[in-house]
Amino acid sequence: MAADSPAYFTIIMLLSRLLAFMGISKNTDVLGVAPSRDPSAIASASQDFGLIVKSAPQAVLFPSSPQDVASFIQSNYNSSAPFTVAARGLSHSVRGQALAKNGVVVDMISLSSNPQGTGIRISGDGTYVDVGGEQLWIDVLNVTMRSGLAPVSWTDYLYLTVGGTLSNAGISGQTFRFGPQISNVYEMDVITGKGDLVTCSPNQSSDLFYAVLGGLGQFGIITRARIPLEPAPKGVKWIRMLYSDFSAFSKDQEFLISKNDRTDKTALNYVEGSLLLSQASLDPFFPPEDHPRIGALITKFGIVYSLEIVKHYDDQSKSTVDKDLQQLLKGLSYLPDFLFEKDATYVDFLNRVRAEELFLRSKGLWEVPHPWLNLFIPKSGITRFNDGVFKGIVLQRNITSGPLLVYPMNRKKWDDRMSASIPDEEIFYTVGFLHASGFDNWQTYDDQNQAVLQFCQKSGIEIKQYLLQYATKEDWIRHFGSKWNTFQQRKQQFDPKFLLSPGQYIFNNN
Ligand SMILES: Cc1cc2nc3c(=O)[nH]c(=O)nc-3n(C[C@H](O)[C@H](O)[C@H](O)COP(=O)(O)OP(=O)(O)OC[C@H]3O[C@@H](n4cnc5c(N)ncnc54)[C@H](O)[C@@H]3O)c2cc1C
Repeated sequence: MAADSPAYFTIIMLLSRLLAFMGISKNTDVLGVAPSRDPSAIASASQDFGLIVKSAPQAVLFPSSPQDVASFIQSNYNSSAPFTVAARGLSHSVRGQALAKNGVVVDMISLSSNPQGTGIRISGDGTYVDVGGEQLWIDVLNVTMRSGLAPVSWTDYLYLTVGGTLSNAGISGQTFRFGPQISNVYEMDVITGKGDLVTCSPNQSSDLFYAVLGGLGQFGIITRARIPLEPAPKGVKWIRMLYSDFSAFSKDQEFLISKNDRTDKTALNYVEGSLLLSQASLDPFFPPEDHPRIGALITKFGIVYSLEIVKHYDDQSKSTVDKDLQQLLKGLSYLPDFLFEKDATYVDFLNRVRAEELFLRSKGLWEVPHPWLNLFIPKSGITRFNDGVFKGIVLQRNITSGPLLVYPMNRKKWDDRMSASIPDEEIFYTVGFLHASGFDNWQTYDDQNQAVLQFCQKSGIEIKQYLLQYATKEDWIRHFGSKWNTFQQRKQQFDPKFLLSPGQYIFNNN
């Protein structure tokens, strides 16, 4: 009987139940829980947030413990015709990275219903939190805040799983100072492609630890991560300043991220930036009465650059935070009269994208295709990128819909032993074209994405893509550059049958 025949799963399920009934617990562990072939489970595991790629698995595993995952992967690995296996967080990927065509999708979220599971547990001394790989960052925030604590590195949007962002990098405006989320992990439990459940850290099974961080799900499934905690601030001062000139904007961004010591209480906590391309795209951060004059600025200059910063405060620093900020912003070249400021709770600031999500959902504009392009651009190429892409391709085509982010980070906050691949220069920018399109025109956005990539290639700007998917193995080899050999060796070591996260199409053909 073929291992992918419908009867195979049924027999495993019956056997496992029979053995459990007979009290043969060890064998039950090996056989584990049976994957489901329920059509609705298969349908929802066949697509992702991108809504561009669709491919159906044979079955979906709904584990209730990491042991269920390990048992399934081990028996699958040992079978003569193993399936590919993709962990699926919330499937917020945009190019099918959490899909497994004809394979098995592991629904990580079902682990969160296990009352005995890792869940979200703060250490006795409050220095770290142990979280299940399936947990959402919003839940990590809510639980740790109850103890006045929080992680320091975030993504812009918090309805993402811990395992999902650690498989990529996890970046936001905190990255310049605290590093990406993958630089803020003490330890993990990982189930390798062979089904071994391994605890890893910089001192224990460190090869696996660094492989998995930014490893695109290629080496194992993260079932627990230990994340450092710090006292959470009471609130934040949140400021946006507008620029008409890109060189002034990027010079100020780079100045602000130069003060980046983790322990420096006078440094900013968050630096980002975005492009304003039309009055219609102004969000409620800008007071409605100011929209017309900002709109007039956009009409005049075509592009207005918005530099966004945040400074935390607590009870002690509440009375001095405004003065500290004035000091920090002295000498910046934003347009006079175009500084906008807001006070917010820490949770409201971190969870800022949720309001936007709910608004878009209410208009039916959330579950639409997302032909995104996310890039890391070395500092030496960012002015050329602005001239050729922002002022060239973007203005000429005039199709942008959704945020267009641009902000710099410091390379030294990333650990080169991790799998994530970033530009070689000390300062590099991330640029995110977070497009939302219609079902009939996402290709137009993809054409623009291709034009951007071609521009970079022709101009010799050595970009790296983020949240990416390449068409060929050669592209992946180029992407990983000097890290490719190690990446490949680690794959042989931890997933020698190339079973995990096939939707990344690194070792599995597209
Ligand atoms: C609205 C929105 C905003 C976003 N904002 C940011 C941002 O600010 N910064 C940022 O860095 N990213 C951002 N992202 C991207 C996000 O980090 C990725 O989509 C990421 O994949 C997390 O999504 P997920 O948890 O649903 O993972 P999935 O899409 O389900 O999985 C992603 C990949 O990781 C693998 N995987 C999933 N779980 C595990 C696990 N436990 N162990 C090992 N591998 C696993 C999957 O097989 C897949 O290959 C955003 C995404 C969206 C939709």
